[in-house]
Formats: sequence, C-alpha cells, structure tokens
Amino acid sequence: MVEPTDALVRPFVASRCDGDVLPIHRPVSRAMQAGLRLGLIDPVVASIVGPMPFQGPFGIGHECIAQVTAVGDSVSDLAVGDVVVVPWAVSCGTCPECRQGLTAKCSTMRATSPGGTLAAFGFGPSSGPWGGMTADSLRIPFADHMLVKVPAGVDPLRVAAASDNLADAWRAVVPPLRERPGGSVLVIGGGGAHRSCPCLRQSCDGAPNAVPAKGSVFNHMYL
Ligand SMILES: [Zn+2]
Ligand SMILES: [Zn+2]
Repeated sequence: MVEPTDALVRPFVASRCDGDVLPIHRPVSRAMQAGLRLGLIDPVVASIVGPMPFQGPFGIGHECIAQVTAVGDSVSDLAVGDVVVVPWAVSCGTCPECRQGLTAKCSTMRATSPGGTLAAFGFGPSSGPWGGMTADSLRIPFADHMLVKVPAGVDPLRVAAASDNLADAWRAVVPPLRERPGGSVLVIGGGGAHRSCPCLRQSCDGAPNAVPAKGSVFNHMYL
C-alpha cells in the first residue's frame, strides 16, 4: 500500500468485457493503430489506450469481485474479508465530477494519469499504473469511496459484471425510463452491457419490451 486510504484486494471472480478482447485481438488493435495514424480515430482514444493502442504486455481485466486483504489506517468502512465490487475506473469520490456521479471523468485522477484522460484498470499504462483485474492482488486508492460491498446473500457470480457492464446498462436504461415510464428501449449491440438492458428494462417496470438488435457494429450505442 502507498496511501493510508488504500486497500489491497484479491480478485476471485473476473468477468470478460469486449474491452478486454481488443488488447489481445491483433487485427483490431492494428486497425486502431492505422486509424489513429490516418486521423480516422479521435486522438482522445490514444490518450486512453496509448499512441500505439494496446501495445503489450500489460495486465487486462476491468470487471471483478474481490475480497479485501488489507486496509490502510484511514480506511474506515471496510474490513479484511469483505467481498466487494471493484469499479473499472479509478476515482477520488470528492472532485466536482465525482460528486455528479461522473466517476470515469474524475478530475483528480485525470490530472495524474499518464494519458491525461482516464485512470482505469486493464487498459494499459496510459490509463495509469493500476494493472488489470486478472491478478492475484490489486491496490485500490480511495478505498472507502471506490469499493462497493456485495450484500450478504448475493452470489458474487451474479454480480460479476457490476464493475462495468451491469452499471453501464443500468445508466443507459433506468434513469431515462424513470423520466419516461413505459417507454420502449432499442438495444443496439451484442455485448454484455447490451444483454443486461432487457433484464433491467423488465425489472424497471415489468414491461419486457426491449428490442435487441444483436450484432450491430455500434457496440456501445444505445437509442
Ligand atoms: Zn468494459
Ligand atoms: Zn474524483
């Protein structure tokens, strides 16, 4: 541990996001490299995954359930043995962006991230020195803010995607439906977040009228 607000955790369930495929699927990462050089991809992508996207080796994985193995002196809400969700983005919890719930935009972490855009697990050194969640041990800064305890009685396997895909799907589906009760949801894409959307749609008000448009190239777009 480095700071008294740190905790160490041991991941024991790690799930796969499509974002994990990119670093190990060379045809995709090479196409991204070419796209950046030709100016066809927004340069902000390079600030997240590096100017030569996903040049390894580095630890991958940004969804896990973990057990707390050590806590710093200033950590008050966690104890060794707690089972926790580890969010994919590293955030401080106190900056203006974090107070709005925009933790992936945390200005504290952006200021210290090598790429200047994002601090996260599993995306390589441009997003910071945090490593990937397919690891035996992770250092978690701002642990009281970052780590979310899994409620007693909840099977960790059922919330394995809560670090990223499940929360992403919730954000895309539930708040808009609260503003438009009974509205329909069109899901474009076939990744884990997209598969969660119909379930959230149904649990939101009981109407299973989400329409999945599987296989679309617009992988992270929701309409
Ligand atoms: Zn992801
Ligand atoms: Zn912050």
